[in-house]
Amino acid sequence: MAAPSQDQILDALRKIVDPVSGKDIVTNGQVSGLVVKDRNIGFAIEIDPADAERMEPLRRAAEREVRELDGVSSVSAVLTAHNTAPQAAQDPQKSAPRGQAAPAANLLPGVGAIVAVASGKGGVGKSTTAVNLAIALSQLGQRVGILDADVYGPSLPRMLGITEKPKALPDERIAPVEAYGLKVMSMGFMVAEDTAMIWRGPMVMGALEQMMREVDWGELDVLVVDMPPGTGDAQLTMAQRVPLAGAVIVSTPQDIALIDARKGLNMFEKVNVPVLGIIENMSTFICPKCGERTDIFGHGGARAEAEKLGAEFLGEIPLDMAIRVTSDSGQPITASEPDGPHAAAYRAAAEAVLGKLSPDARTGGPRIVME
Ligand code: ADP
Repeated sequence: MAAPSQDQILDALRKIVDPVSGKDIVTNGQVSGLVVKDRNIGFAIEIDPADAERMEPLRRAAEREVRELDGVSSVSAVLTAHNTAPQAAQDPQKSAPRGQAAPAANLLPGVGAIVAVASGKGGVGKSTTAVNLAIALSQLGQRVGILDADVYGPSLPRMLGITEKPKALPDERIAPVEAYGLKVMSMGFMVAEDTAMIWRGPMVMGALEQMMREVDWGELDVLVVDMPPGTGDAQLTMAQRVPLAGAVIVSTPQDIALIDARKGLNMFEKVNVPVLGIIENMSTFICPKCGERTDIFGHGGARAEAEKLGAEFLGEIPLDMAIRVTSDSGQPITASEPDGPHAAAYRAAAEAVLGKLSPDARTGGPRIVME
């Protein structure tokens, strides 16, 4: 059976009436970003952010209506706040202090610390590092989740070898997929990795807030967030609106000396998110045949550069074929070769990250000491 056409979906959505205007959401022009991929349907409903809470039942009703069409296997509707996010991104300094401004602040009451993994640009190994760092943290005894906020190129399903989809729970929340001891959520579960999606900033925020609020993360010590690459408005808004305990910047050695890592640091500073430090990825090349070590980009420079930037150096991960092959085949090296040198490098970085989180952030609350 074929998936419904855009017109059929819009017709179904005409039954949903916005209580504020009394008109249906299609006539009101509130439906945007409609995507039909195989039998999976996604769209956004634009609303005034002040109405977000009141509009949640409307969002669910819209999802239900479309789900009832023939040939539909999943529907994901997000609420998007049309005007607020870009404004906030343009002038983060002027917005209210974090906590007050962030509607996301109470989204994850059971999560101890949300840690962003970010990079100044794409292709530096941010996602690979996020995945291996998350597994390393769980090997250190933490309860860990990982959220793929890289909606432009969600790669976690592939890197973690996940083919199943998250399941809906009876209370209409979503159960994250479990892999390698991690709870995992990714927009990649909803849309195919090779689908070109056009995301406007507010839609990204809507999708992310939904992946936080509606996913049953349970109790976690750390939620690792794989951020989209770059330091544009979308990233800035996200850094501002997600209640982050801190950020880890992934950079290749040559970029640390250049402008990209610096931009990453500045972005988080602007929104008062502490930068926990820099992980240098693809630092040294060890020849698989002769074992000779080659510092392609000049070894050690990164540590010095990080210090110059006032950031902590959290560790270095070598450039190694095994990391690429395992990462691209869904068997991250920390899990597939836990006793090897690469897993050890990721664990050392994970320990450094934990050391930078405050004890409160690490345990999800103040420790009660009985004397
Ligand atoms: P980003 O998230 O920054 O775009 P990815 O994590 O997707 O980057 O990595 C880009 C490519 O580089 C992938 O093919 C990945 O397997 C590879 N890669 C990442 N880190 C390393 C490393 N330390 N050694 C070898 N290959 C790596």
